[in-house]
Amino acid sequence: MNITRSARLGLGVMALAVAATACGGGEERNVTQSAENGSLVVGIKFDQPGLGQRNPDGTFSGFDVEVAKYVADKLGVNEQNIEFKETPSAQRETVIQNGEVDYIAATYSITDERKNKVDFAGPYFIAGQSLLVRADNQDITGPDSLNGGKKLCSVAGSTPAQKVKDEYAQDVQLQEYDTYSACVEALRNGAVDALTTDDIILAGYAAQSPGEFKVVGEPFTEEKYGIGLAKGDDESRDKINDAIEEMIADGSWEKAFNETVGASGYPMPTPPTVDRY
Ligand code: GLU
Repeated sequence: MNITRSARLGLGVMALAVAATACGGGEERNVTQSAENGSLVVGIKFDQPGLGQRNPDGTFSGFDVEVAKYVADKLGVNEQNIEFKETPSAQRETVIQNGEVDYIAATYSITDERKNKVDFAGPYFIAGQSLLVRADNQDITGPDSLNGGKKLCSVAGSTPAQKVKDEYAQDVQLQEYDTYSACVEALRNGAVDALTTDDIILAGYAAQSPGEFKVVGEPFTEEKYGIGLAKGDDESRDKINDAIEEMIADGSWEKAFNETVGASGYPMPTPPTVDRY
């Protein structure tokens, strides 16, 4: 009887442990602590050329990757001790909150809503939402021309998807995918008419497939890219803000831009001012 009971208890505990792992119920990380322990787990995108990309040989490249590496270096962690983890748009707050990553540099806009769950250093870049269409498209010229039931792709959990839902969804068919590269495929094969997200991301896809797509219209939002980290990790946020300022001041920001996003023809903007909120 006793054995059965303790066995049952044991199973119960195991089930709880499995449930906790399955929903990633870990503790938030402290970036400074991780750096002192010698390594960092950094969230990036794997499929955004010029920004965050996993190359066929397993290396990583892009502007976000360069910013992430510069910050890590200033925290005393060299690139060999960074583990890059793919963080699709909809998962970013969650993986910070459950301690799967130390910080995220993944075209991650600083918003008040997200600030309820995570904190942000930065901004380290300012982009704007725009539209990508097939090169031969004539009738989509800006967000208003999506009316009339056009099929628009964006990514779940992203600010552009939210913006379209809030302001244009009356007469547009929004289709949310997990990643922008999936949207690009849908645009290529005609399943959607347009893709919306930040202009700098779209420029990367357009450059990857010359002659196939074009970015249309003027940017219609302001997207301030921040480095996301656990809420309340103020010491680390200050250090990351210092690192971003140094990256801009010592010319590394400009160099990183030119060597990554620059290839798409996206013009280099003035670097932003870090906002120490
Ligand atoms: N910057 C926007 C956002 O954070 C769009 C890009 C993305 O989804 O990564 O939601």
